Amino acid sequence: MAKQAVLFDLDDTLLWDDRSVQEAFDATCLTAAAQTGVDAKALENAVRREARALYESYETFPFTKMIGINPFEGLWANFLEGEQEEFRQLQQLAPAYRREAWTRGLKALGVDNAELGAQLAEQFPAERRSRPYVYEETFAILDQLKGKYKLLLLTNGSPDLQREKLAGVPAIVPYFDHIIISGEFGQGKPAAAIFHHALERLGVQPEHGIMVGDKLTTDILGANTIGMTSVWINRHGMTRSDEIIPSHEIKHLEELLPLLL
Ligand SMILES: [Mg+2]
Repeated sequence: MAKQAVLFDLDDTLLWDDRSVQEAFDATCLTAAAQTGVDAKALENAVRREARALYESYETFPFTKMIGINPFEGLWANFLEGEQEEFRQLQQLAPAYRREAWTRGLKALGVDNAELGAQLAEQFPAERRSRPYVYEETFAILDQLKGKYKLLLLTNGSPDLQREKLAGVPAIVPYFDHIIISGEFGQGKPAAAIFHHALERLGVQPEHGIMVGDKLTTDILGANTIGMTSVWINRHGMTRSDEIIPSHEIKHLEELLPLLL
């Protein structure tokens, strides 16, 4: 069935967030390695582990999980926007969360230095902000779709953080008829409600829409739930179970075009 609208996920579908985060860790951990002699990769692993454990210990965890904000986004987010009370709690928590995650990571490697932890906690967000990467194919595909299909960006996350990511690659925004951020809507993918909301904004029935995303448990599951065609962009050749089955699997965004006819 010919499609009328294409819904895109943002992180790791159009924006190369993985690379931005990885390079921010690399740069920050190298600073620590130079100052203390710790192994940079070991520190990254320790900080990722400590950050995740801390993040999951907070009262806000069910909320961040539902909206779709991961622990590593928490390491550079300010949480200045969003109407729910939990965003104000996150805003309060964020500075100590960053500091603790880095300080505990250092400590796990035998370096007891809260001052350095605090310094790294501020370096990481700056490193991340200086690296807004987009995939080479992103603009090529958007150029081919623009004017032929309604385009909507459906992204999970904290409103100010997702906007900041978009501001880092400002040329993306004008391609979209609508941009929906879960933190503004109040529920994240895979909730059927946010998918229905998106289609209502477009005035399109589920069977005339197609959702493109890199995450089975959010992008693909949600689209499948409401009867929309789902396209899994699997750039890294990951294997999947048969629990969530995408309508189509592609390795490159260019492969999307024949699926729209
Ligand atoms: Mg994604």
